[in-house]
Amino acid sequence: MRIADNAPEYIRAISPYQPGKPIADLAREMGLATQDIIKLASNENPLGMSPRGRRAMLDAVDEIARYPDGNGFALKAALSRRHGMQVNQIVLGNGSNDVLDMAARAFLARGDSAVYAQHAFAVYPIATLSVGARGIEVPARDYGHDLDAMRQAIAPDTRLVFIANPNNPTGTFVAGALLGRFLDELPQDVLVVLDEAYNEYLEPSLRYDSVAWLARFPNLVITRTFSKIYGLAGLRVGYALAHPEIAALMNRVRQPFNVGSLALAAAEAALDDEEFVRQSYELNRFGMRQIVSGLDVLGLEHIPSCGNFVTFRVGDAAVVNQRLLRQGVIVRPIAGYGMPEHLRVSIGQEDENARFLAALEQALKA
Ligand SMILES: *Cc1c(COP(=O)(O)O)cnc(C)c1O
Repeated sequence: MRIADNAPEYIRAISPYQPGKPIADLAREMGLATQDIIKLASNENPLGMSPRGRRAMLDAVDEIARYPDGNGFALKAALSRRHGMQVNQIVLGNGSNDVLDMAARAFLARGDSAVYAQHAFAVYPIATLSVGARGIEVPARDYGHDLDAMRQAIAPDTRLVFIANPNNPTGTFVAGALLGRFLDELPQDVLVVLDEAYNEYLEPSLRYDSVAWLARFPNLVITRTFSKIYGLAGLRVGYALAHPEIAALMNRVRQPFNVGSLALAAAEAALDDEEFVRQSYELNRFGMRQIVSGLDVLGLEHIPSCGNFVTFRVGDAAVVNQRLLRQGVIVRPIAGYGMPEHLRVSIGQEDENARFLAALEQALKA
């Protein structure tokens, strides 16, 4: 009997999350200099972090011997002003992955199920399985969420539905009107976790007011993050907006001091850095056009994306990925998402995008 066998079967059944390869790992493995490597693998902001966030973080360093504010008063106050929500409707997380996990821990147990889509974000099955609940994966339509099928897949034991909009890794988007109808038709005893990690990258014509839905749907949880457009992925801070009773339950399972003081300070300042958000949005629009037209030139099919990344089909993605790595270009293989013929690339700066496209052309020739 090995001690590992004592872990519940449902824990041993979880497939580990596969993060993008760190630059330092590739440098070691290939004997490359770190400055010769580009990483377009984790949907990070190619402009770096918000300058306002950076200043606030550096100012906060002097207080680092103290525990952070476990209630995140100042950040919650800023979020409350931004979204017109009560402070008791906000839950702060160590990244939004943390709030996704809290939703699962607060609402799912053994004998329950959660519904999510095929090719949807990997954290949903992890959060579901780690509390011993059953995951119901609903086949995608055109690589995206099929809301009709998801509604039909809801079982008597379903307590939670995860929806990523836009979705990662496919970049697909469900129109606000369809989501609103889905919420209208859903039994009110099923919680919907609407993960909007890429919300700020939506073009104006696609935007919808999900926050306003919270007044009508007490079974809705919206999650957002500072990891993407705000450029704070390494600090780990995200949040959920929900009905006060839902938020209170999530806060009960939250670890005390789950968001560090540097993260709290940086996020509060970054939230108001409109100039940085605008620049990041514009750079993404530009880079998306650059990469998509480059993929077209190479004759590669891509999935239209509303995020800061795009997924394209290359055939044997593992082989193409290896050839990219040898050239110092890190993108993301997504075989773990059931897409062994696709790769996902994050939109970078203009020179990074050009270098990626040139490396890809080489990789396809080889
Ligand atoms: C990147 C991402 C997140 C954010 O994760 P953090 O924990 O906030 O860094 C959440 N959901 C999706 C779909 C993502 O792609």
